[in-house]
Amino acid sequence: MEDAVSDGLRGVRGPRRVVVVGGGLAGHTAAATLRAEGYDGGLTVLGAEPHPPYDRPPLSKELLAGTVDDTTLKDDLDADLRLRCRALSLRPGTVESTEGVHPYDAVILATGSSPIGLGGTSRAVHALRTVGDARRLRAALRDAASVAIVGAGWIGSEVATRAAALDRKVTVIDAAPTPLARALPGAVGGHLVPWYAEQGIDLRLNTPVTGLDDRGVSLAGGGRVDADIVVAGIGARPDTGWLRGSGVPLAPDGAVDADAALRTGPGAVYAAGDIVRWPSRLFGGRIRVEHWDHAAASAQTAARNVLGHVEPYDPVPYFWSDQLGHRLQYVGHHDGAERLVLRGHPSDSWTALWFDGRRLRAALAVDNPRDVREARRLIADRVPLSAERAADPAVRLTDAAD
Ligand SMILES: Cc1cc2nc3c(=O)[nH]c(=O)nc-3n(C[C@H](O)[C@H](O)[C@H](O)COP(=O)(O)OP(=O)(O)OC[C@H]3O[C@@H](n4cnc5c(N)ncnc54)[C@H](O)[C@@H]3O)c2cc1C
Repeated sequence: MEDAVSDGLRGVRGPRRVVVVGGGLAGHTAAATLRAEGYDGGLTVLGAEPHPPYDRPPLSKELLAGTVDDTTLKDDLDADLRLRCRALSLRPGTVESTEGVHPYDAVILATGSSPIGLGGTSRAVHALRTVGDARRLRAALRDAASVAIVGAGWIGSEVATRAAALDRKVTVIDAAPTPLARALPGAVGGHLVPWYAEQGIDLRLNTPVTGLDDRGVSLAGGGRVDADIVVAGIGARPDTGWLRGSGVPLAPDGAVDADAALRTGPGAVYAAGDIVRWPSRLFGGRIRVEHWDHAAASAQTAARNVLGHVEPYDPVPYFWSDQLGHRLQYVGHHDGAERLVLRGHPSDSWTALWFDGRRLRAALAVDNPRDVREARRLIADRVPLSAERAADPAVRLTDAAD
């Protein structure tokens, strides 16, 4: 393997033309990693947006708050960065885009996700995915007296936090019985319900939105919420429609199915970031996550593997969110876990822990950064824990090792 790597770096057997499709965090990191690893061949980055790569997490936090306006990623890419350039199709050896044809020896797919729309409406509904979306929403929030947010997910709760801080009348509406229902079970998400009232937000759960009009939204059962602005935060899906017919395997939700080295097919095609679904040795099954940390880490692995390494990608996923006066940090992957244990009391800082037998699979920490740091190591190293001792907040998680 070392020979393949050094040959690749000398350009004997490695690629000489790499195309990265997607100018977000994963695309940016992939390109930066290729250069950092010594790749000196042709490097083209195709980005559909008019902006050079930028960070998205601050869009729903500092940028909405007005403390930051520009989140452009700083490293100089040393690449041919094509903005406003959308890839249209992939064929063996070439990407076709709105600007022509880009031949490649290896390609890294990193086209991220697009927000799911509310559909069937004439009213302009705000989504929040791009820096343009964030600036428009920030301006609209300045002038609005009332805001209806559809979806009590990660984005909805962060937007609600900002709108409440501005003293707007905020209503958050979700069809699910608890907030963050797609990410967390009700036994955990239920503890977040009081946070909304504490911030003066009207949270309507079990309430599907059935329509939109110029005055607000109508609700199942005949109710309605009048609001100056409507924000949709009902999730995102992989932006991979352009790959249909390319031979790249797509999951039913549009995710790109890759192997443990993030290689997909056919040929030297790799994938990173929100779009990729990879086989996890640590957690079993295939995983796809929409997290900042994963976008950067998967892009680094994909780039190194393009250069001839054969590095498996097997992270402990990590995600954070600042919402409703709290910092939430999640590590691991709890799908299919056997047991959920609560550590601490929901009126204070607390941590939800998911176990398979004595093995910790995941943790969600609320205002509890030490637990997250420790849980991440315990999960990665598969350290056996006593769930009973771990449930006691007076015992450090690392001291709950069996
Ligand atoms: C408002 C907001 C807040 C967030 N907050 C957090 C947080 O607090 N913590 C956290 O862990 N994660 C957070 N995330 C998630 C995180 O930002 C994403 O997981 C990460 O940006 C994914 O990176 P990516 O490069 O895979 O995709 P993206 O960032 O979506 O980048 C993909 C890029 O590819 C472009 N593209 C799409 N199709 C094409 C095409 N055919 N041709 C060329 N270009 C194309 C897109 O325009 C886009 O610029 C947040 C996301 C948003 C939107």
